[in-house]
Amino acid sequence: MTNILTRRTFLAGLAGQIEPGLILHRGNIHTMDRTAPRAEAVAISGDRLLAVGSNDDVLRLATGRTRKIDLGGKTVVPGFIDAHTHVAYSGIRHLRQVDCDLRSIADIKGAIAERAARTPAGQWVIGFKYDDTKTADGRKLTREDLEAAAPRHPVYVGHRGGHTAFVNSLALRLTGVDEKTPNPTGGEIDRDRNTGRLTGGLRETAIQPFQKMFFSAYTRDEYREGVKIITRMMAKSGVTSAHDALGSPEDLRAYQDSYQAGELSVRVYSFIAYQYIDQMVAAGVRTGMGNEWVRLGAMKLICDGSISERTARISQPYIGRPDDHGIWVMEEAELTANARKAHQAGWQIAVHANGDAAIDRTLRLYERLNKEMPRKDPRFRIEHCTIINDDLVRRIAALGAIPNPFSTYVYYHGEKFTEYGAERLKSMFAVRSFLDAGVRVTQTSDYPPGPFEPMMALQSSVTRTDSKGTVWGANQRITVEEALRVGTLHGAYASFEENLKGSLEAGKLADLVVLGQDPMKVDPSALIRIPVERTMAGGRWVFEA
Ligand SMILES: [Zn+2]
Repeated sequence: MTNILTRRTFLAGLAGQIEPGLILHRGNIHTMDRTAPRAEAVAISGDRLLAVGSNDDVLRLATGRTRKIDLGGKTVVPGFIDAHTHVAYSGIRHLRQVDCDLRSIADIKGAIAERAARTPAGQWVIGFKYDDTKTADGRKLTREDLEAAAPRHPVYVGHRGGHTAFVNSLALRLTGVDEKTPNPTGGEIDRDRNTGRLTGGLRETAIQPFQKMFFSAYTRDEYREGVKIITRMMAKSGVTSAHDALGSPEDLRAYQDSYQAGELSVRVYSFIAYQYIDQMVAAGVRTGMGNEWVRLGAMKLICDGSISERTARISQPYIGRPDDHGIWVMEEAELTANARKAHQAGWQIAVHANGDAAIDRTLRLYERLNKEMPRKDPRFRIEHCTIINDDLVRRIAALGAIPNPFSTYVYYHGEKFTEYGAERLKSMFAVRSFLDAGVRVTQTSDYPPGPFEPMMALQSSVTRTDSKGTVWGANQRITVEEALRVGTLHGAYASFEENLKGSLEAGKLADLVVLGQDPMKVDPSALIRIPVERTMAGGRWVFEA
């Protein structure tokens, strides 16, 4: 565990002693530093920014050994921080599973059949990123679809949202789930209304025994390889830091393995799922341990269901389903007991809460912890924090809590919003409301559920328009400059690292992105098309087009 030098001591230590290894000059630099928002050049020494300023001031620091790159007027912004995503979890999927982000059930069946043909009979065939609203069929996958695609393999296709899945008969048999199996707490095994026969659909905790079966078969090397793949994909889009929102000890080990192998392209702040809290507390570790590349994040708890799969717990029912208020995933007593343990042991706490009812319950928990066991600067996090109202925002601001809403959903998941209704969209992904209340809201993808490209996040937050042109909740629009701040500095604050990254200032990490166009100058509906030309993390190019 290293002490973070203050910028002043860092610079004093450097005066006249350290020379820049690299200077980027003739740039159009948005620093996100309020005291000096624009610059032309940066000098870099090792993994840090040595100086940020005008071409003349910075170039004066060069010695004969300094490499210089002329940016030719290109735009530079700090590296983006995805404050809620699933890094190792999606990495291993890209390495070993079938990408079902396809536009028809026939295409999905084809992809599963193709994988089955080169997989020994009896072994699992797993699909991910399936999305029922993105296929042309107007219905969900069934047990029969998967039966037809791969009759001799257990098949499991996970929804892109991660909270529901679809399986075939062999998968049910191998996992020991049949018509007599009761629904688990916090989950549902879908059954035909008339016959009681299992349809192959699984919701929330009902997916866990299936996932356990195939995830435990992945090797340590596969996890490491997966992290390499996914962090390269993220770096290519301009992300330099990611908060893994549901890490396990295996994930943490994969990050360390990847880091030590020199293969990690994105810094990871790894949450730890509540199931592991006792062993982590017993080991005496807590939030903040690690280094600038791999750090222990918050303890993660889950309160309700999902937005993209329409299981979030909401006070007013879903449109067209008058009895459906969504799912509580965890009982209040269990939530409180786990949070208390983590809070007492010095962990930051992050509760997944999408619906307004779930956010209310989460805030009640935080307010209680604050009263019972006050701790300096706990930075309580509310993951997603999707559907809000004025009272919830007021309580979030009063606690100094951090909401982490989906940043690419308005653009990407527009077709799901009819089940929430246009009226409710005015208080969903409510970045404008949070900023107006002085709350440090972050940028997140939740990948795989949402795409992680920061340029899509910018366009989504600034225009509130989906890919087909429908506007959802125009009252929540923010400016490009605000969106950039949310995507950089606020993410750094959410991991207690605002003195280390999130803006381009002398002494901070050299994490930055070179863009083909200036987001402040393009038409907001063209933000998504801005090319990312290079990404630097810790003074090293982790992506070059
Ligand atoms: Zn998540």
